Amino acid sequence: MVILYEVHNNLYVNMTNRCPCACTFCLRQTRDEMNDSGSLWLEREPTVDEVKAEFEKFDIDKYDEIVFCGFGEPTERLDDVLKVCRFIKEKYNKKIRVNTNGLSDLIYGRDTAPMFEGLVDVVSISLNTPDKERYLELTRSKFGIGSFDAMLRFAKNVKRYVGEVILSTVATTLSTEEEKKCAEICAEIGAAYRIRPWED
Ligand code: SF4
Repeated sequence: MVILYEVHNNLYVNMTNRCPCACTFCLRQTRDEMNDSGSLWLEREPTVDEVKAEFEKFDIDKYDEIVFCGFGEPTERLDDVLKVCRFIKEKYNKKIRVNTNGLSDLIYGRDTAPMFEGLVDVVSISLNTPDKERYLELTRSKFGIGSFDAMLRFAKNVKRYVGEVILSTVATTLSTEEEKKCAEICAEIGAAYRIRPWED
């Protein structure tokens, strides 16, 4: 199973294939791997100890960041992800980023933002669009039309607990006017806005 894989100067962590969304643009629909990682489809979810043991196989010093992002939504295993974050901080003291759809409050039915404190440095959330109806069309979130507002609420809340919150959209998918609206949403929340290249 591919639990850790390299992308550019970072080491990515693949802990689950679960996700409450079925995004129309999800790369999982058209490929099995990223950057020659080998298949990111897991035979089963690795235990926390198995994930920790994988780190022994890599030279952690050479990476800029450890990024929780695989073929699934990392916060589907938030407790376990945070256990691994604690291990990474204690053993390697590396910068940690979680790439998420921002729907963890809906997954757990509570405010999850405080759980990130002291363990995660950067939370990067897929904003996708400035419009809640369009967001649902794109993500096909199982939580329905409330998903967009819940994602923004999480983004605003988690800003209080981590150093950097980034909301991103994908280049070429929005009009200039829509990107301007996204930038305004980010400014209101106090998050950075990033237009990321396709497949990043
Ligand atoms: S949230 Fe991410 S993993 Fe889930 S369906 Fe969308 S793109 Fe794929």
